[in-house]
Amino acid sequence: MLKTIAAFDRIGEENAFAVLARATQLSNEGHDVINLGIGQPDFLTPPHIVEAAIEALKKGHHGYTPANGLLATREAVCRRTRTLTGTEVSPDNVMIMPGGKPTMFAAILMFGEPGAEILYPDPGFPIYRSMIEFTGAKPVPVPIREENGFAFSAEETLSLVTDRTRLLILNSPANPTGGVTPKAEIDKLVAGLERFPNVAILSDEIYDVMTYDGEVHTSLLTYPEIRDRLIVLNGWSKTWAMTGWRMGWSIWPDGLIGHVRKLAVNCWSCVNAPSQFAGIAAIDGPQEDVARMMEAFDRRRKLVTERANALPGVSCTVPKGAFYAFPNIAETGWKAKPLARALLEKAHVAVVGGPDFGTLGEGYVRISYANSEVNIDRAMDRIADFLKDNE
Ligand code: PLP
Repeated sequence: MLKTIAAFDRIGEENAFAVLARATQLSNEGHDVINLGIGQPDFLTPPHIVEAAIEALKKGHHGYTPANGLLATREAVCRRTRTLTGTEVSPDNVMIMPGGKPTMFAAILMFGEPGAEILYPDPGFPIYRSMIEFTGAKPVPVPIREENGFAFSAEETLSLVTDRTRLLILNSPANPTGGVTPKAEIDKLVAGLERFPNVAILSDEIYDVMTYDGEVHTSLLTYPEIRDRLIVLNGWSKTWAMTGWRMGWSIWPDGLIGHVRKLAVNCWSCVNAPSQFAGIAAIDGPQEDVARMMEAFDRRRKLVTERANALPGVSCTVPKGAFYAFPNIAETGWKAKPLARALLEKAHVAVVGGPDFGTLGEGYVRISYANSEVNIDRAMDRIADFLKDNE
């Protein structure tokens, strides 16, 4: 057996993919599996976006593109950023990446090393911790608490910063909780970070327009005082149902953009041209499909919350963003992972156990409501029956 460097023993996984693989296997065996496990919209990419990619291929855009992305795609990102946040970003500070994850990888790699500490949300997207551990840095979980509406607490976050902290990872609207951190709390956090000028910030804003009930996402870009140490992660995957296209973007300060561009040259060279043309069409084209998806997500969100709250021993905070609910199952008598496993194997409903998102995820399961209302209803019937039969 070849011996690799120790970092590869520390790298983790995203268990939602393992759940998806098992769910697919069960369906292939003929079971009627309802998938509320994976975090991807169940809609197709809107047709005008697909057409833009086909058109680009037909026109001969088959070669390499610049490592930081086509200027036209970066300019489209700047337009969207201006419209959405009212802030000016230069295309020179934008990277087009193969999805949202490579931005995480690049940012964590830039600041993670033995002796460094990186703060990340717990429960949170599992790749943050995995990548921090890969670099040898110390992962410092920032508790994301249900009693706080699954928002970041500025006070608690700031209390965890030490002179070894190099990077703070924020995510709102959040996976897996659906929490949205209010502007007032971000104001406090940013004000407190003035005391720690050497801490870089990675703000994962991939669900920025996915909010409900009039909830407004506050971009960290709207705080000029931290722009020189702020990295913003965003992308096409969720908003325009483009998970498989592998299209993301990020905004980097002057001091870091050169590093990330070189990393891209070394790792993936560039993102394919047709996807980048599709990305422009997504940003500049009609947004009716996005609005339609959001209306569907909103209906499903209400349905899933209502149905979860009616389950014995389950309580579910109303999610304010993204497309996840994070019901508290502590009173059912089940531990989260065994419950998620049993629901998949016995009731053929795929959900993800809260501990797959961090230690504070025990007592919760993540339900992705990226599935039809009919299927959500059927899944909740099955979960109700399962809990009744297995008290
Ligand atoms: N950030 C968060 C919070 C996510 O939930 C996800 C995907 O689930 C990503 C980033 C990664 O997005 P992509 O599929 O574009 O790499």
